[in-house]
Amino acid sequence: MGDSVITVPNTFIATTEAISQVGAMPEFVDIDEQTYNMAPTKLREYLEQCETFSPNGRPISRRTGRPITTIVPVHLYGQTAEMDPILEIAETHKLIVVEDACQAHGAEYFSERERRWMKAGSMGKASAFSFYPGKNLGACGEAGAVTTNDEALALKIKMLRDHGQATKYHHCMEGYNGRLDAIQAGILRTKLKYLADWNENRCDAAERYRELFISLSDTIIVPHEPPWAHPVYHLYVVCSKNRDQLRKQLAEAGVETGIHYPIPLHFQDAYRHLGYQCGDLPVSERVAAEVLSLPMFPHLKAEQQRHVASQLIKSCSLVMA
Ligand SMILES: *Cc1c(COP(=O)(O)O)cnc(C)c1O
Repeated sequence: MGDSVITVPNTFIATTEAISQVGAMPEFVDIDEQTYNMAPTKLREYLEQCETFSPNGRPISRRTGRPITTIVPVHLYGQTAEMDPILEIAETHKLIVVEDACQAHGAEYFSERERRWMKAGSMGKASAFSFYPGKNLGACGEAGAVTTNDEALALKIKMLRDHGQATKYHHCMEGYNGRLDAIQAGILRTKLKYLADWNENRCDAAERYRELFISLSDTIIVPHEPPWAHPVYHLYVVCSKNRDQLRKQLAEAGVETGIHYPIPLHFQDAYRHLGYQCGDLPVSERVAAEVLSLPMFPHLKAEQQRHVASQLIKSCSLVMA
């Protein structure tokens, strides 16, 4: 029987597709109220309520009946999950941590354990990056990468991406057609030089939004930046009880917004078989109804941000009236 893998429900379905497609089963823990990333306390509680263990000491999930082997924290919106406690909990329960760093190219986390800032994608056993065109580092088509410090794992992943071969027509295993095409690699290599500058622009824009929204502190919640985080603002997400009304009014004023994500994964039809009920993951469920992604990209101008802010202030006063 396959593994059980713990992740969060407020992410893109690619996170859980990667779990299911290797024969494992996803299950969810709820998120932190402030960061919207995996809540270490909830992860700990979830693992501590397991009462049986596999022969090699891993907790058996009460939900799936399978051994839990892996935790997949998602560095959502460009801010890392709180990795020290997650890694510590993983060690206690003999679990592997795989980072979903698909929104966090260049983001950093201050590890008290290591006494240094660490990049997203350098803390787990392996990490996934997406180079989908809209990401902080995007190709002009489909692309992605896996990072790991484990040499044997790196070799295996290199083989898997090329039909399980290391030398032509010698297949050690079945793999995939997962090669990065050379043209995308060339584009990414050129754009990589600008990533740090573009991320800095995003952070400056986030700071500007924060200042512009000070008067709205009763209506919207701006992103929380813990002292241990250097986020890269893949998305700039605010929270409001009146999200849908605000979104409609902003659209009428020509300000395009997004929702990341409107339906938590445990409510998706694709995961009905997992048997989750309304109220099982209350923070994720509430946040899905309240998040609103405002315009955010490296070349966003201060003037454009002032326009967004004035429209948002107008919308808030209409909604509150
Ligand atoms: C973009 C993204 C992925 C991967 O998307 P692909 O379409 O496979 O490149 C995975 N997880 C998260 C959180 C993402 O935002």
